[in-house]
Amino acid sequence: MKWQGRRQSDNVEDRRSISGGKVAVGGGIIGIIILLVNVFGGENAQLITPVLEQLQGGGQTQTEAATPLSKEDEEMGQFVKVILADNEDIWGKIFTEHGMTYKNPKLVLFRGSVQTSCGGASSASGPFYCPADQKVYMDLGFFEELKTKFGAKGGDFAIAYVIAHEIGHHVQTLLGTSAKMHREQEGKSQADANKLSVALELQADFYAGVWAHYNQENLDEGDIEEALSAANAVGDDAIQSKMQGQIVPDSFTHGTSEQRMYWFKKGFKSGDIKQGTTFDEI
Ligand SMILES: [Zn+2]
Repeated sequence: MKWQGRRQSDNVEDRRSISGGKVAVGGGIIGIIILLVNVFGGENAQLITPVLEQLQGGGQTQTEAATPLSKEDEEMGQFVKVILADNEDIWGKIFTEHGMTYKNPKLVLFRGSVQTSCGGASSASGPFYCPADQKVYMDLGFFEELKTKFGAKGGDFAIAYVIAHEIGHHVQTLLGTSAKMHREQEGKSQADANKLSVALELQADFYAGVWAHYNQENLDEGDIEEALSAANAVGDDAIQSKMQGQIVPDSFTHGTSEQRMYWFKKGFKSGDIKQGTTFDEI
């Protein structure tokens, strides 16, 4: 991903030097995969720490006080600002082309734990979007894990992809898709409600692909393949957890690996938001 020297968004709220709290550390490959599943599922703040501790056996947590930002922290913050700026530019243009107005969301960087309009969340929740305050929340400690476990290049684009997926949920909020989906879920069986959640998640993947489509000049060779392989690795839709926030469904699925890659690729190839017809295929 080519990002250095490019425009940085002003819509990042950097709370990293003021937030603190319990931080999940360690983890190994299983932990990372679970976190990835959660991240790519995204908008729902989940309590996954118990799952991690159970699977890791030796999983540990530590209390981390707020610390000044290192040079690497600063650079990661700049990277996030560039990716967010990309999303602002691309979605602003797409909305204008369709006679609509795009409203930029905020992206909050935090460490440890954070309070949101969707309830409290910890770094173990993974990045998520909160429709109530229209903000994406991310603990970059998670992304450092991605870099060390999955390699810097793949990690970089995985971060960009995750951000684009979360912004996809913001797009769904602006378009009224999320609210409509939640209304349709009322009175449905859990299985049927889950199908609607899957459609919402797959459409966010599709929108991430649309973002990548309009950002091709900045992609490095292999970026898309890296994203697809990450999505493939974490595409299991079986993870269900109790929610930490108040407004999110208490169980959901994300779609299979194949579905997630299919819709990302469809968005990437077409760049046409009208082709994100995941709800028609339930
Ligand atoms: Zn999601």
